[in-house]
This record gives sequence, structure tokens and C-alpha cells, in this order.
Amino acid sequence: MIPLSVPHIKGNEWKYVKECLDTEWVSTAGKYVGQFEESLREYTDAGHAVACVNGTAALQVALRIVGVLPGDEVIVPTVTFVATVNAVSYQGGAPVFMDCDDYYNIDSAKVLEFLEKQTETRDGSTYNRASGKRIAALVPVHVFGNAARLEDLLDACRERNIKIVEDAAESLGTAYTEGRLTGRHTGTVGDIGCFSFNGNKIITTGGGGMIVTDNPEYAERARYLTTQAKDDEVRYIHEDIGYNYRLTNVQAAIGVAQMESLPEFLEAKRRNFLSYESALEDVEGLQLATSPAYARNNHWMYPLRIDRQAYGRDREALMRDLQSKGVQTRPLWQLNHLQTPFRDFQHYRIEMAPKLLEETLNLPCSVNLTQSDVEYVVQALVDE
Ligand SMILES: *Cc1c(COP(=O)(O)O)cnc(C)c1O
Repeated sequence: MIPLSVPHIKGNEWKYVKECLDTEWVSTAGKYVGQFEESLREYTDAGHAVACVNGTAALQVALRIVGVLPGDEVIVPTVTFVATVNAVSYQGGAPVFMDCDDYYNIDSAKVLEFLEKQTETRDGSTYNRASGKRIAALVPVHVFGNAARLEDLLDACRERNIKIVEDAAESLGTAYTEGRLTGRHTGTVGDIGCFSFNGNKIITTGGGGMIVTDNPEYAERARYLTTQAKDDEVRYIHEDIGYNYRLTNVQAAIGVAQMESLPEFLEAKRRNFLSYESALEDVEGLQLATSPAYARNNHWMYPLRIDRQAYGRDREALMRDLQSKGVQTRPLWQLNHLQTPFRDFQHYRIEMAPKLLEETLNLPCSVNLTQSDVEYVVQALVDE
């Protein structure tokens, strides 16, 4: 069986975790939490990094920190893992769903069009004309590690006091290479960014997340809220309602070791991406989806685009066939504006997303995928 995406634990993970267990520093205090934060902060060149139990919790806290209040609206893409939208709901916010571009990311041109045509800004806030509600934030997602096109959105949102919370759960290692964002890592260009270290992501801590920001007040608030909002740790005084969202030392120890391996993981992801790409060059009706040229993308996932007419089989048939040959694949997520909890919320000109949903199947992409695994998958795609 070739799985879609599994962890690769071959570095210092054992050594660091053993140290946690030997010294009995297993919970949320301990040196590895700080080391993991510093390692990710340094790597992404963010001002501050605050560890969190998982990416979803990181998003929830980030939305709260930028000021999303019950009844506010938050602009989100329809193409994303449901956690992005759930986090909005946890804050009592209402999602407004946007279409995607060629790279599975939020369509920035359509977001700009929506902001220009359907919103108005007064007294320092922006309101949706249709609902009358305040639009507090935008959550772009760097889907599959492809950098979302944010350059134009940054100015448009700043002018309208709409905060940008980047969902960089899938894009650790991705950085812009063109324009004024050159050199900037995804997660660090908006007001606040969130990473995930779930088992299927490019690095893992089993479960884990990180909030990054250049704003020291946001960072301090993130640290405060994720550790039960303690105003006096000795007398247990709390001025606010916090969460038990701190990462443990054991998880952070795994994270420190995984960060050491990240450069090697990125190379492996890229090497396998290029292998798939060239092996599929001559296959009629199949093509590995391209990544945006304005960034160095981490190639976390390998989305395959299927031209049903030319290839002769649709996504479902192909997925079933590959499964029977021991190759695990996955389609895009069900579009979120169609999910039961969200189907009554507004969506704006969603045209591209249904097409990409039909045409896309994600291929196995684990870091430890071998050249012969790639050849096996491609052979399985070619054979009837
Ligand atoms: C994985 C993921 C999350 C959630 O992260 P967890 O650590 O699993 O809670 C959020 N958004 C996207 C786009 C993801 O892929």
C-alpha cells in the first residue's frame, strides 16, 4: 500500500523525546516548547512564534486576537480543509465564501471585486451591503503549499481595516520569490499566520500548531490566551477567558527534530514532484497541477489534473482503480459552501472551484516516497 501522506521520523525525534521522558518534563513547561517556537520563528523570519495544540486552535485564537466578534463576517475560500471555516464558527463569525484560482487558492481578483462592489467602509470598519454585517477578517489559505496571491489583497484589506489571518497550515517552507513580497514566507505577510503539524503535514509533532506574527501585542495575547489567560499564576487570577491550548514538551521535542529535517524534506518533496511531472508528460489527459511561478512552493501535495475526455476515466473511477492497486489518493475537499453547516451562508461567484473539484486527485506525496513508488503510481495511472 502506498499511502497519501505519512510522517517521516528518522532524525533526532527519539533522542529528544527520550530526554523529555528521562527528565520527566513531559507537559507544557520544558525547554523544547521554546526551542520549537524559536526554530520556526527563525526559519520563517517571523517576529514572534507561539506554539499551540493544533492548527485549528491556532486559527481560532488568531481570529479572536485580530478582533473577530460574534456576528462578524470573515471572508474564506470554499476550497480548504473544513478547519479554516470551523475556526470562524468557533468565534461566532459568519463565513463569506470565495472562489479559487488555478492554484486552488482564494481568487484574489474576485475578492477585490467583491470588496469594491458589495461592501462599504465607514467609521473605520467595512460592512457587507447585503447582510449589513461587519467584515472583520479575511483568511487566505495556502492550499497544498501553493502561495496564495496576496500582494493586492494586503493593501485592499489594510484600507478597509479587514485583518488578514493566513492559514499556512499546509505551506511551511513556501516563500515568495517575486514582487514586493520577495523572500517572505507564507504565514508572515498578513497580520497573523497559523501553521499545523498534524500527521499529514510537511513536518509533524503528532498534533500541533504555531501562531506567527510581527505584532508583539498579538504575540503576547496569543501566549496569554493559549495558557488559560493567567494574570497571576500563583493566585489564579484571570481577567479573561483563555484556553488550554499550549503544546506539550514531548510534542515540541518532535517538532525541534522535524525542523532539523525540514530542508531535506523540502528537497524530497521537490524531487518527487519533478519525477511525477516528467513521468506524466506523455500521458494523455493527465497532468500534474502547476504551482505559482511567483513563489518557491513546498510541494506538500501533488494534485493531479484529469481531463476526463482525453483520459477516458473520471476522478471517482480512477480513485477506485488506484485503491485496488494499493495506491491511496484523495480528491479535493467537498466545497465548504455546500457543506451542511455552511450552506446558508453567502458565497460569491463560485465558478472555478466545482471544476477543480471534479478534475483533481491528490497523489501519494510522503517524504519517504521512493523513485520506484513514483514509477509504480505512474504505471497504475497508465494501465487500464
Ligand atoms: C491541517 C489543516 C488545518 C488544521 O490543522 P490541525 O493541526 O489539523 O488542527 C487547517 N487548515 C488547513 C488548510 C489544513 O490543511
